[in-house]
Amino acid sequence: MLYTSTRGKTEKVCSAHAITRGLADDGGLFVPQKLTTLTLSEIIAMSDMPYAERAAKILSLFLTDYTMDELQQCTHAVYCGDKFQDNTAPLKQVNDKTGVLELWHGPTSAFKDVALQLLPHLLLKALEKTGEQHNIVILVATSGDTGKAALEGFAGVKGTRVIVFYPDEGVSEIQKRQMITQVGDNVSVIAVKGNFDDAQSGVKEILADRELVEKLEEKGFSFSSANSINWGRLIPQVVYYFSAYADAVKAGCINPGDEINFSVPTGNFGDILAGYYAKCMGLPVHKLICASNTNNVLSVFLNTGKYDRRRDFYKTISPSMDILISSNLERLLYQITDEDAAKVAAWMKELRDEGFYDVGSKLLGKIQKAFFGTWVDEFETKETICKVFRDKNYLLDPHTAVAWRACEKYRLVSSDERYCVVLSTASPFKFYGSVLEAIKPELYRQEMDPFEALELLAGLSSTTIPQQLRELKEAPVRHKLKIEKQAMKDSVAKTLKI
Ligand SMILES: *Cc1c(COP(=O)(O)O)cnc(C)c1O
Repeated sequence: MLYTSTRGKTEKVCSAHAITRGLADDGGLFVPQKLTTLTLSEIIAMSDMPYAERAAKILSLFLTDYTMDELQQCTHAVYCGDKFQDNTAPLKQVNDKTGVLELWHGPTSAFKDVALQLLPHLLLKALEKTGEQHNIVILVATSGDTGKAALEGFAGVKGTRVIVFYPDEGVSEIQKRQMITQVGDNVSVIAVKGNFDDAQSGVKEILADRELVEKLEEKGFSFSSANSINWGRLIPQVVYYFSAYADAVKAGCINPGDEINFSVPTGNFGDILAGYYAKCMGLPVHKLICASNTNNVLSVFLNTGKYDRRRDFYKTISPSMDILISSNLERLLYQITDEDAAKVAAWMKELRDEGFYDVGSKLLGKIQKAFFGTWVDEFETKETICKVFRDKNYLLDPHTAVAWRACEKYRLVSSDERYCVVLSTASPFKFYGSVLEAIKPELYRQEMDPFEALELLAGLSSTTIPQQLRELKEAPVRHKLKIEKQAMKDSVAKTLKI
């Protein structure tokens, strides 16, 4: 299978190339030329496979330049080892028609681990295949979850360096501790005096700096990306849609062949796009419910066909969805226009230059066949956490609560009572503050010690604090560097000693 750019101006490349590069040279995203489909019996057969085998099966359909043996080595190393302990994507039945797909049993307690644990393994094999001798430098600007997941994925992986920039005042106390205590001699974590946009703009400037990039290449380094623009991050996410379906059949919640819905808490549109690929590959999916928080640019788009980033940015209690430019939408547009790269490139130019584009009613109709978009405000999010805990004794984190509520809203307006899988993207302990405030406002205080709050939440819900969060209390701080935002480029040069 070969890959091409959504903007159509580059050569077709193999998957190893797409993964090492991250972004296509014309600024577009890599997409597969043609999707392979699976039969229903192939899907049902996954019911009896461990997760690592399900993953190898799906990956083999996309990464045709890897051998099955190589893929199995990668998936077994990640999903069977001590990182997930065969507990990668369990489907919990919360009521008769709703299952919650828990994707946060990895080392950082958020769903990004599912892909970011695997990406380094795929990347190392890709480097062998493309014969690239360079050390790969992964630069990350993070608002919290991606940084830690990239650090955990790449720590100790030879031939790679990771440099994470986080906004000094812009991440939670737990997220900060997760990052500054990171072990590994190929990782650097740097606080930037500024907000997330400052850190993100700084990274983009560095990547676009020809002089620096050339100097790095001379010294044997090249940049890649750990964001969901990298194809190697998207593919591992396709797996758990199939996995959830196979498990729902196995548990007797649905009959083989029944169509189901998925509700996905969405930011950069990566996770839900993976679900769309699964649908195109033959998974019986009726609707993909795109759940936004108050930053509802995507739900407005899915209802009007107009994407407009000229709007206010809100800081919400589901911060990993606080995004105004959803990069992966570009891949959907490419697929749904029957691969009209010229059109996609024109819309992306309009978005960059004017902050706006409109896909028109005909295409919108086509998009709405597969997607339903809605959004959930802060009050509804907390109310949902409280209600599901009270009624079902099940604790949702704020991101998952947005998806749960979006599913309820969809059922109300559509009368579609099909079985729905709600994707759960973070452990409630990772966002303990909002969760405590929702279920026990009288006990929660904002200035509470984080570890005291974790204990309180564990007691109230009779669940256990994930070990990796509990251990942070004693973990020594290893990264203390704090810089001005103008100094990011220099700090990369210093870190890499060039
Ligand atoms: C990243 C993230 C999301 C959003 O996923 P996208 O692929 O960006 O749409 C949702 N929830 C959590 C907890 C996340 O970390």
